[in-house]
Amino acid sequence: MIRKAFLLAAALPVVCNAGAAPVAIDVGHFLARPGATSAYGVPEFEYNQSLAAVIAARLTAAGVPVRLIGYRGEMEDLRARAPQAEAAGAKFFLSIHHDSVKAEYQQPWIWNGREQLYSTHASGFSLFVSRLNPRLAESLACASGIGAALRAAGLKPTAHHAETAPGAGGRPWADEANGVYFYDNLVVLKTSTVPAVLFEAGVIVHPDEARELATAGRRDLAAAAVESGLRACGVIAP
Ligand SMILES: [Zn+2]
Repeated sequence: MIRKAFLLAAALPVVCNAGAAPVAIDVGHFLARPGATSAYGVPEFEYNQSLAAVIAARLTAAGVPVRLIGYRGEMEDLRARAPQAEAAGAKFFLSIHHDSVKAEYQQPWIWNGREQLYSTHASGFSLFVSRLNPRLAESLACASGIGAALRAAGLKPTAHHAETAPGAGGRPWADEANGVYFYDNLVVLKTSTVPAVLFEAGVIVHPDEARELATAGRRDLAAAAVESGLRACGVIAP
């Protein structure tokens, strides 16, 4: 479903997509398969798109040109994302996502007259790096930098990806304190030849965090943490 708010957001950062750009911001998922669904029935793609626009605007304002990947929801081929970023001159790849929990932890509720699924099992951000990416050390340094900045701003990482119950992720920690996991087979990370990080900005199936993640304040905070993290790891000059 395409709503008016989505169309307005989609028109915003067209100017970001011209010329060489050292940072690629990848909008997770695409219109036909928009990822997770929030406790209020909003597709993850819309959250990803809105946050990517705020991050791109912040970095551009700081003098760092950004290439947005999949911004209009057209990128159906996961394996085309990293090559498109690198063709644009990207030296760093950040994929933007919003998180959910496994089905067993979700319960039905009625929101605006329609049944949706929600869960209070987990909330918070997480970051992922792949050991199949040839630039793992730099990827991890950037993920840790972003996580540290998010923590300094008062946010907490979620530990639910490390749970080992059947069907849970069981992901090994790369930097537990800063919410960074290894997830080797994430396609956009392992097909990148530049340092790459996947950022789950928060859990949209959680009713409270879904509301917060839809605010300008939370998006600004996340964007500031990304900028700070990329300065800490040297992608952006300090
Ligand atoms: Zn996602």
